[in-house]
Amino acid sequence: MNIGLFGGTFDPVHRGHLALATAARERYDLGCILFVPANVSPHKLRAPATPYLHRYAMVVLATMGEKTFVPSLLEAPAELPLKSGKGQAGQAVAEPSYSIDTVRRLKPTLKKNDRLFFLIGIDAFSEIAKWREAEALFRECEFIVASRPGYSLADVANALPERLRPPTAVTKPFAKQPAKGDLVLTGATVHLLENVNQPVSATAIREAVAAKRPLGRFLDPAVADYIKKMGLYGAR
Ligand code: ATP
Repeated sequence: MNIGLFGGTFDPVHRGHLALATAARERYDLGCILFVPANVSPHKLRAPATPYLHRYAMVVLATMGEKTFVPSLLEAPAELPLKSGKGQAGQAVAEPSYSIDTVRRLKPTLKKNDRLFFLIGIDAFSEIAKWREAEALFRECEFIVASRPGYSLADVANALPERLRPPTAVTKPFAKQPAKGDLVLTGATVHLLENVNQPVSATAIREAVAAKRPLGRFLDPAVADYIKKMGLYGAR
């Protein structure tokens, strides 16, 4: 089976995430996509995230109607503190969740014929060379990189860790063409998902909640309800 691993802070999970997962599932025949909320994202250490339990609950709600979308506890903390902020147990001091560790934890549970795809947006992929053991991560799984407003998929090759990057002479002739298809290199396979152009971010949603602005169509109604009930992001 083709399996997708989709990690994120999911603070909160929104329609952009679901659109990415849906497009990847359709294009690459994914039989299962694991939505893996990070306990502590190594990429967002400066701003403490909403407690893991709330983010996980929202992922459960958003994926409920979809048989192939599976909430995953792969990066769950050993303890589940409910309060965020400095000095609160667990959340603020926990170790960051590195994708290479997550993938290595997942791999032994897969079947021999399973093929693992790492789902990611182009904004996050543009930093991939800085990730822990980035080259090893490319050896462990194929990547599906989705477009996002404000970023160009043409930058995918340049974002690769240096040793995997194709020479400019190879990529230059294609620079003016729309980026699509697959990039198959020694040590890395990257599939481009060019039609996921959802103008939404978790940041914009948190800001809209705090400012009591309508959340529009970018949030699953069950997730919007949960945010209100729990008073997340200043909803009360
Ligand atoms: P924030 O605004 O808090 O930075 P975010 O909206 O980027 O959050 P994350 O949970 O950080 O959401 O993203 C998880 C993954 O989903 C990342 O790989 C990111 O690139 C991707 N992603 C998020 N939103 C979109 C979107 N609108 N279109 C395509 N990919 C997206």
